[in-house]
Amino acid sequence: KERPVLNFIEQMIEQDLAEGKHDGKVLTRFPPHPNGYLHIGHAKSICLNFGLAQKYNGKCNLRFDDTNPEKEDIEYINSIKEDIKWLGFDWDNEFYASDYFDQLYEYAVQLIKAGKAYIDENSAEQISKERGTPTSPGKLSEYRDRSAEENLSLFEAMKNGEVEEGKRVLRAKIDMASPIMQMRDPVIYRVKKAVHHRTGDKWCIYPTYDFAHGQSDAFEKITHSLCTLEFASHRPLYDWFISELDLYPSKQTEFARLNLSYTVVSKRKLKELVEDGHVEGWDDPRMPTLAAIRRRGYTAASIRNFATKIGVAKRDGVSDVALLEHSVREDLNKKASRVLGVLDPIKLIITNYPEGQSEMLPAVNNPEDESAGKREIPFGRELYIERDDFMEEPPKKFFRLGPEKEVRLKYAYIVKCTGFKKNEAGAIEEVYAEYDPETKSGHDTTGKKVKGTLGWVSSEHAVEAEVRLYDRLFATENLNDIDDDFKNHLNPNSLTIKANAKVEPSVGSMKPNTQFQFERLGYFIIDKESAPDKPRINRTVSLRDNWAK
Ligand code: ATP
Repeated sequence: KERPVLNFIEQMIEQDLAEGKHDGKVLTRFPPHPNGYLHIGHAKSICLNFGLAQKYNGKCNLRFDDTNPEKEDIEYINSIKEDIKWLGFDWDNEFYASDYFDQLYEYAVQLIKAGKAYIDENSAEQISKERGTPTSPGKLSEYRDRSAEENLSLFEAMKNGEVEEGKRVLRAKIDMASPIMQMRDPVIYRVKKAVHHRTGDKWCIYPTYDFAHGQSDAFEKITHSLCTLEFASHRPLYDWFISELDLYPSKQTEFARLNLSYTVVSKRKLKELVEDGHVEGWDDPRMPTLAAIRRRGYTAASIRNFATKIGVAKRDGVSDVALLEHSVREDLNKKASRVLGVLDPIKLIITNYPEGQSEMLPAVNNPEDESAGKREIPFGRELYIERDDFMEEPPKKFFRLGPEKEVRLKYAYIVKCTGFKKNEAGAIEEVYAEYDPETKSGHDTTGKKVKGTLGWVSSEHAVEAEVRLYDRLFATENLNDIDDDFKNHLNPNSLTIKANAKVEPSVGSMKPNTQFQFERLGYFIIDKESAPDKPRINRTVSLRDNWAK
């Protein structure tokens, strides 16, 4: 289906610009909680916020929404910054909600003085119960009508650390009968005797998300504050604070969050996978975090293209991971050099090739990019081929090797299988073949035609590598539809390690993070923790494209 040229947010911005709103400026922000690593869902929000700023000649701030000190960590702040930069974006200002704590405190005092906030001594459970249900009004708290003076001194005591956690909160006094639950006297400050990673132990009260977010937007004069749909019900409250406190009129607009098939996009759940040891860490290449996706070999361009392709909608859905895979294939097809490698090796011995000899054969680096040039790969009497490229009793349409069958060895010669040897356990150990010297690639004078072409590496020159193949982390397509624990849906076969892969010598000298294609096997990357004596290689994606365009 063709997409309209502008998505609904762009339409809104263009209308605002045409009407001269916000002095013709566009200022967006990306506001992560620093409580985990960013995932592919955040990439959508980053591409949207930074992308709009670029498109409309505006600016985009990075603001850490750091109002929950117990769950936050400097490690997360650093990883978030690294991920945004990797995606190809840079922020105009780096701000922290905690920079505004003094100002937010003043605003709370202002509301109290105006009779629009009060200290409630009920427990969290009681407050939640008395809030009622959307169809019936809530119960007014017995503390709702305290005087401003009393509220001020109680609030100050909270601030000074004289109140235990959970004993008192500050609530905005709005409307306990509102059909919008967020408007039923929301909590705006709570006691937390936690050390904050930026403000230390200066504060023992912290503003809630609702009291910090809109005001932070307003301080920064954010014109378009974009968030995911679950915040739609918070918008009246967002507007209420801005109006009551007479602040810059930032405007909140919601869009559909990204859900991706066969994975979860929730920091809380991803953290659980890390902490329970289901994966090797936040950047385990099976995870949907940006750190993991990068380690797996996805390129920043492929993520940006994916974000463009999924577009921005007002209704939640699940995007197909096949589209993400398609995006990275599309990008790497243009960029990645082709090399030869064998994941599950067996020996192929060319019995009529002179012993002790070898030769260098030219190989094309990238058929999609002539400027990538050629390289030379060694060929000799003993080679490795892929175990499943040989069958003792091949079916008719098996165009690889079997007794008496002929194939071309890529960049080399046509060979004919003359026999094989099994070990005691009955597994094929060696395959024998004869080559035809007249069939050298590029110089073939025989006119012989064969149906199959195989990859290979010279056993004398091969480098041994550990190759990691990844399958989906979960076996269930839509993890929003399940009723039980999401961890029950983990795919037990999401990682396969090929510990004794044999790869052509050029791979041995590749630096960590180098990307390439093993012909016929997929796109790969040298892992960031690869050791020079035994490369560790991650498969980004196989070559088979399941995306129905
Ligand atoms: P999570 O549920 O994973 O913890 P979050 O919404 O708590 O995510 P934040 O750190 O608050 O994470 O997110 C920063 C920004 O990224 C917010 O504006 C949020 O709306 C957006 N965002 C988070 N998840 C997604 C998603 N799946 N799709 C699109 N945007 C997202």
